[in-house]
Amino acid sequence: MKLIIIAVCLGIPFLSLVSESTENKPSVLDRPTYQLSVQKNQNKELINLEKKIPSLVLDIKYATANNFTKQVIYKEAKAFARKPVAEALGFAQKDFLQLGYSIKIYDAYRPYAATVKFFEIVGDTRYVASPKTGSRHNKGCAIDLTLVDSKTKKELSMPTEYDSFRKEAWAEAPVADPEILKNRTTLIRVLSEHGFRVNKTEWWHYDFVGCSGFEVLDIPFEELE
Ligand SMILES: [Zn+2]
Repeated sequence: MKLIIIAVCLGIPFLSLVSESTENKPSVLDRPTYQLSVQKNQNKELINLEKKIPSLVLDIKYATANNFTKQVIYKEAKAFARKPVAEALGFAQKDFLQLGYSIKIYDAYRPYAATVKFFEIVGDTRYVASPKTGSRHNKGCAIDLTLVDSKTKKELSMPTEYDSFRKEAWAEAPVADPEILKNRTTLIRVLSEHGFRVNKTEWWHYDFVGCSGFEVLDIPFEELE
């Protein structure tokens, strides 16, 4: 009896250690399981942002080699986000258009396989999301974007280029140039009025706040339509 008690006492932490060490991937939905989840909750649908908000400008950096990995990650230059995120972005775009600006998207929903690839290349979770958790981009709940002039489509000046790892990229980093400060302030203010929260270390990254319960997805763009 004593032996059994000892075994049980030792066994439980042992088993939990085993399950922790093998659990290096979040629960990830593929296309069939995603489709089932959408049948239960229509808010989980990934919406094509270009179709929903035709005035948007797309500049999907990971569909080119012009990104921090220097590799083409996506086969197609497309932007998707979950339904409530897409709707909120549409309202933000209306406000920006009234100011003479338009949203330009660098990245939106990101298949989990891309997050794994980023980690393989960079190997440091200070700069890229850990494959153990995935990122909000994988959940269709985060968007990387900037502003352009709605007529000329020229980018407004911002504190740094996209995906800069410099401290100047922080959302509250001091900015000497008043025009750049105004542009960053406008971007953050309008998006926050529509339920988006800027990332502390990336002025271009916005998480949608109403995203609890949305899973990490691993569906390439070409399988979404
Ligand atoms: Zn981002």
